[in-house]
Amino acid sequence: MLALVKAEAGPGLRLETVPLPTIGINDVLIKVHRTGICGTDLHIESWDPWAAKTIKPPLIVGHEFVGEVADVGSNVSDFHPGELVSGEGHVVCGRCRHCLAGQRHLCPNTVGLGVGRDGAFAEYVALPMTNVWHHRPGIDEDVAAIFDPFGNAVHTALSFPILGEDVLVSGAGPIGLMAIAIVRHAGARFVVVSEPNAFRRDLAMKMGATAVVDPTTQDLKAAQTELGMVEGFDVALEMSGNTTALRTAIANMAHGGNVAILGIPTGEISLDVNAIVFDQITLRGIYGREMYEDWYKMSVLVQGGLDITPAITHRFPFREFEAAFAAARSGDSGKVLMHWVD
Ligand code: NAD
Ligand code: ZN
Repeated sequence: MLALVKAEAGPGLRLETVPLPTIGINDVLIKVHRTGICGTDLHIESWDPWAAKTIKPPLIVGHEFVGEVADVGSNVSDFHPGELVSGEGHVVCGRCRHCLAGQRHLCPNTVGLGVGRDGAFAEYVALPMTNVWHHRPGIDEDVAAIFDPFGNAVHTALSFPILGEDVLVSGAGPIGLMAIAIVRHAGARFVVVSEPNAFRRDLAMKMGATAVVDPTTQDLKAAQTELGMVEGFDVALEMSGNTTALRTAIANMAHGGNVAILGIPTGEISLDVNAIVFDQITLRGIYGREMYEDWYKMSVLVQGGLDITPAITHRFPFREFEAAFAAARSGDSGKVLMHWVD
């Protein structure tokens, strides 16, 4: 099969012919239809310090995908060839305290698809059956292809009560964009989005933002005043990984406000702990998706009318992967997809 491979330590990816993945008795082999490019894939492609310390080449990259079941191991009874599925990219151990308690997103032994094991930017990918999710009939395959980051957005956006609340989203990358539509759908009052990139601010409005702010030239306090807000944001979703964005969010919270942090900073950040204490702010880190409550929520939210498709801006055939990666890296894009079948 053809696959996008990090062949050796250093920048770049190569489209190579590699053997089909072998499957064990509990595994599912999936023929990949469409994939999404994640920031993680950009880190691996460019071989930044995180990639250099984390990735062991040769490795097939990629973890956001939709495809159809091609083959199953002898223990697998509820997946059948032809069924449309996506995969949870976090492969957990199943044996630790958290896994045994059904809190698999807390597993300390998590291995990432396309990070710690061969991934989905390939014609076929293999996963344990416990990592495979059946899609509901009629789902748009572009949406199904990005259930992994959509799940990050659902996990973060719904980690605190949203109905009637005023929400700050900092960072309108693909995940922030999806989060805007989710908190809208969930009944937020105002959704204010802070994002320096003009293309993404426009997309944020299309996803349902009440107002957008350029943090390099505009002030969130002024945006609040314009909306008639007097006490600050009830909920902030930090989806940029930017130091200033996190500090600004904390400085703009209502007393008792809740901050969900998905964005991954490149280093340590010093914070105004006095503000956190005296304003009684809760900070909550979010990693991955709750397995499989967030997958259930995604499926039913889409069936209930949640539309995340405006967040998908580019589609390329997989052979044009270099153009696809360039579009994702440019910043003037939402989610970028690669199609593996015509
Ligand atoms: P992205 O990098 O495409 O989006 C981040 C956005 O933040 C960009 O549009 C950027 O312009 C914007 N930004 C930069 N500085 C800002 C500032 N000062 N204020 C507001 N916005 C600012 O990333 P994404 O794919 O949408 O992912 C969002 C974040 O979540 C990233 O940090 C990513 O690494 C992280 N992530 C975390 C998990 C997890 O499980 N915790 C999973 C996936 C991604
Ligand atoms: Zn575990």
